[in-house]
Amino acid sequence: MARIVLEHLQKEFRGSLAVDDLDLEVADGEFMIIVGPSGCGKTTTLRMLAGFEAPSSGRIWIGDRVVNDVAPKDRDVAMVFQNYALFPHMTIRKNLSFGMRVRGESKSTIERQVGEVADMLGITSLLDRRPAQLSGGERQRVALGRALLRKPRAFLLDEPLSNLDAALRAQMRLELKRIHAQFGITTVYVTHDQVEAMTMGDRIALMNKGSLQQVAPPEVLYSEPANVFVAGFVGSPKMNIVPGRVRLGATMLVISALTCEIPVNGSVGAALGAAGKDQVLVGFRPEEIGPCGAGKPGPGVVKGTVELVEPLGSETHVAVRVGAELLSCKFPARSGLAAGSDVHLVIDIERVKVFDADAGSRIG
Ligand code: ATP
Repeated sequence: MARIVLEHLQKEFRGSLAVDDLDLEVADGEFMIIVGPSGCGKTTTLRMLAGFEAPSSGRIWIGDRVVNDVAPKDRDVAMVFQNYALFPHMTIRKNLSFGMRVRGESKSTIERQVGEVADMLGITSLLDRRPAQLSGGERQRVALGRALLRKPRAFLLDEPLSNLDAALRAQMRLELKRIHAQFGITTVYVTHDQVEAMTMGDRIALMNKGSLQQVAPPEVLYSEPANVFVAGFVGSPKMNIVPGRVRLGATMLVISALTCEIPVNGSVGAALGAAGKDQVLVGFRPEEIGPCGAGKPGPGVVKGTVELVEPLGSETHVAVRVGAELLSCKFPARSGLAAGSDVHLVIDIERVKVFDADAGSRIG
């Protein structure tokens, strides 16, 4: 196992920056997710780690050595891609044992270890088939098994589940977590899927346009986003983000947003006062706004019109129009709401997040 450190890592392709001054530390045995929208530099980062792409500048540490000039095969990492290349003419058994045979390991060791890994991945009955006779999910597991048998110091996984259907993806998410718990191999896992990111990672590194936005455990990324990009990327439906104007009320700062007033005191008020901004963005998650009685005026109360009701069984997603904004709300199942009806909502003002309207950075 090994700690991985990326220091001021930069990659330029014909004058445009794919990865911009990336600093990231993955602890020994940690499961680190790199997530972000298409083109944000995730795969380029992983390819630099594996040695398939040379950094324009910066350093890559695996364990206690800088590997910038070390060939991919000598970095002691195993990479599993979205398109896992298995040898088509070999049986699964031969595919799994290929690396061990090349290393000259004994027949009995190979047999025992292939048997153990196949058993763990549930592919024992497939060992005498060829890759073409396997489903996508089964091939995926063989690719993982082959990587495991290399006993690498680190696993590098690039969207390894993207070819699978939803049910198998959910199953493989659990299986990968289990394998990680069992072997404790330092893992860097690239995905654009925030559900994978939130459910699998010890920590998540969220990138946008080549730049790292925040590195944190999933629950911190969700509850304490560093900026408006992170706030909008994590969570489904997305966080509601609406413009607000700050003014000094009778006793504290007040943000006017939508058709209501949101008093801000405590640390948020202090941060807002220190920032001295009058235009801000106010964020609240769909579960932080709920229905309230028509007669309840007060802080955070708005009136809107239901535009869309999506019953999901355990809960209901409702889109409510308030002026120019369409708010996403998560209501309990059987909300009784219908499109076109008027509804009064109250925002949980204790949990609103406030962002700089220009820079997007979090104020409080
Ligand atoms: P996706 O989720 O779509 O795979 P990504 O986050 O993995 O995206 P990268 O593949 O790392 O993104 O690409 C980052 C940027 O670098 C993109 O703008 C891409 O067009 C560019 N890029 C990647 N590889 C090359 C290359 N070999 N030559 C030129 N530009 C490249």
